[in-house]
Amino acid sequence: MIITMQVGASPEQIEAVADAIRQQGLEPLVLPGEDRTAIGVPSALSSDQRNTLETVVGALEGVNKITQTSRPYKLASTEFHRAKTVVEVKGVKIGHGHFVVMGGPCSIESLDQFRQSAEIVKSAGGTIIRGGAFKPRTSPYSFQGLQEDGLQIMKQVGDEFGLVTISEVMSGDLVPLVAKYVDILQIGARSMQNFPLLIEAGRSGKPVFLKRGPSATTDEFLLAAEYVLSQGNPNVILCERGVLPIDRSYTRNTVDLSIVPVLKEYSHLPVVVDPSHGTGVARYVAPMAKAALVAGADGVMIEMHPNPKKALSDGSQALTPEQYVQLMEELRALANFLGMK
Ligand code: PEP
Ligand code: MN
Repeated sequence: MIITMQVGASPEQIEAVADAIRQQGLEPLVLPGEDRTAIGVPSALSSDQRNTLETVVGALEGVNKITQTSRPYKLASTEFHRAKTVVEVKGVKIGHGHFVVMGGPCSIESLDQFRQSAEIVKSAGGTIIRGGAFKPRTSPYSFQGLQEDGLQIMKQVGDEFGLVTISEVMSGDLVPLVAKYVDILQIGARSMQNFPLLIEAGRSGKPVFLKRGPSATTDEFLLAAEYVLSQGNPNVILCERGVLPIDRSYTRNTVDLSIVPVLKEYSHLPVVVDPSHGTGVARYVAPMAKAALVAGADGVMIEMHPNPKKALSDGSQALTPEQYVQLMEELRALANFLGMK
């Protein structure tokens, strides 16, 4: 339920509505807008609560209208927040049709490997470099990342090349450390419902790149975003990175492109697609990256390695530098055609 106040409603009138909501044992969410305030109520209301609220709140002064919402997320929703969110990091805009590519290796492996990656990203006209320092690996025996050393490399190289950096943080207690070195905090697919992590990332004030869990529904995904937003952090970027496939013998995951227009309709947050983890196969990355833009994504995240055969993680899905440069050219042409900025 959303209660929209009249233009010019007084703080006392707004407080009276919030109070009436509290009296039903519910927590009001006061959302000041440009010309009027809206007050949200969690949608899991019993019909009694809904009727009482409609009667009590409807009679209060300063109330313009009461709208029933069927969606459990609020701050992430278009209903609550009509303007499209543009996340701006060091002058790079993400969202609302600004075309971005986040490119780089799966893992930061050495200063040399990451510098070479940055050269390629930069020469292809890119603005954001990715790379994992803390790696969520299925097996504890696989390369776990260079951890803080990797973050230091990322910071050094990002500064040297003037690139915005993004890296994954896997637990709440590591948020301050990762936030010290990188510009955008990635929350990986496996962590999408790590609620304490979402809260800490929200509190960090850094932009948060939230990957959809491999079996998360749209509501679960947007509610995860809601955790970050509800900490007062408006800078959340949603990332579709593939869901569990019916058949793993051809692709690692299935890129769910149909969620792109859905997210664009129900949420104001930027949407980025990661066809690298989405397909797990380097030769399928380019077609799905292009399809993502056509589907309405604001950008793509692409894994690229100076020498994919030697990669310590996700080598089979990494583009070579040549493939990456070519894809960037094709995507830029496509973005122009689509009228992206
Ligand atoms: C990654 O970006 O390297 C990664 C581990 O992603 P995901 O969480 O989507 O698997
Ligand atoms: Mn990876």
